Amino acid sequence: MKQFIGGRWVAAGGGREFDDLDPWSGAVLDRVPAGDAHDARLAIEAAHAAFAGWKNTAPGVRQEIFLRAADILRRRRDEVMSWLAAETGCGYAFGSIQLDFVISLLRQASGAAYAAIGQVIPSDEPDAFAMALRHPVGVVAAIAPWNAALVLSCRAVAAPLALGNTVVLKPSEESPWAGGLVWAEIFTEAGLPPGVLNVVTHARGEAGVIGQELVAHPWVRRLNFTGSTVTGRRLAEAAGRHLKRMVLELGGQNPLIILADADVDYAVDAAAYGSFLHQGQICMCARRIFVERPIAARFLEQFAAKTAALPYGDPKDSATVVGPLINDYALRTVERRVGEAVASGARVLAGGSARGPCYPATLVVDVPPSCELARLETFGPVVMADIVDGPEEALQLANQSHYGLTAGVLTGDPERGLALANRLEAGIVHVNDQPIRDEPQMPFGGVKDSGWGRFGVGFAMEEFTEMRWVTLAGQ
Ligand code: ADP
Repeated sequence: MKQFIGGRWVAAGGGREFDDLDPWSGAVLDRVPAGDAHDARLAIEAAHAAFAGWKNTAPGVRQEIFLRAADILRRRRDEVMSWLAAETGCGYAFGSIQLDFVISLLRQASGAAYAAIGQVIPSDEPDAFAMALRHPVGVVAAIAPWNAALVLSCRAVAAPLALGNTVVLKPSEESPWAGGLVWAEIFTEAGLPPGVLNVVTHARGEAGVIGQELVAHPWVRRLNFTGSTVTGRRLAEAAGRHLKRMVLELGGQNPLIILADADVDYAVDAAAYGSFLHQGQICMCARRIFVERPIAARFLEQFAAKTAALPYGDPKDSATVVGPLINDYALRTVERRVGEAVASGARVLAGGSARGPCYPATLVVDVPPSCELARLETFGPVVMADIVDGPEEALQLANQSHYGLTAGVLTGDPERGLALANRLEAGIVHVNDQPIRDEPQMPFGGVKDSGWGRFGVGFAMEEFTEMRWVTLAGQ
């Protein structure tokens, strides 16, 4: 593999490379350039040089490129899916969801080329025209994670590009192709001019030097980041020093509230999907279930049985529900946190120990609030359940978290569901669904430690353009 800078496929300046690994087999998929701050600087310079041309490219031309990119992706669907599976251990179900999402996102983003609509505002000056015009901001830096590699890297670049910005994308070291270089290939084939999109890759443990360059370089006008709260906080601190605005989509500890009037069979299926899709490595996953006492015993019994029966193993096997975790560090983190919870009095009702590179689906109850599992987002197929006496207690426990990304409420009474949705401290709430759901046009983002700003094609306008007040004074 090569990086993509200024429209050229290039090795890292220092010539170093690292291994792109398959988390299931451990096989080396390819060798990838280990870029550094110098490569990031070259990419920023290329993006800066391309900005004036791209900004002034007719919206219809920009739109056409996006529509072509969607068509190319449709044609290359199977190839992209197999890369996703190989790099991120993603099974067929989640792979299909990602492909459908990004095709729709690209088509919707094509319309954003025409969306930078301004305003004429009444002025107190006689005969003056006062206008608020929208301009692209310039170079946008995008830092994307590996988990929903295709979706989150596409979201990081699509609307910024369609709105006339140029982009430097830094994919995760775990998904350099499916979470980064794929877009260089597809957009180049679709006719995107050189320098408009640049992709810089780097070795494990070396994200910081590139991140630092992206935040600090004066030509980078805005950033977007999707990843952990720890890294997001670090980047936001640096961005604050450099007075850079950013969109931050961070972790979650998402509640699924199941009220006594919910359908238990539906709740069991929803909880399993919401907790274990992509082995729990999705920021929207349900991490905590609050189930009302009258149905708790039945729900827990059925849900534990379902959890214990979920097949784990090779993500390329169509029967597999729970594939491998992304790497050994992730596996050990899940093991350690479940171990700590159990040592503190928690009980495991299903799963609870690693099998090779997999951690089978796991249900834990009675987790003390002081445990890391209760406090911190744990990226793995582990869900906690608590029995509550009424919706107020569920709400109070859910809102205690310092995160606030997504939530789900299951109830037979939609009005009660909506009332809870209004009081849950989360950026996204789904009534009568589990917390995983995404559509490209929705305002995606969190509150509290889950981040700020909103992705979503129509909402990206606020994030990736800026208003300019222009007056034509009266004579
Ligand atoms: P995860 O646990 O999901 O991998 P991270 O926050 O570590 O979450 O990673 C998300 C993205 O942030 C990845 O692209 C990763 O390389 C990048 N990253 C990690 N540390 C830093 C850093 N110090 N500066 C910039 N980017 C970073």
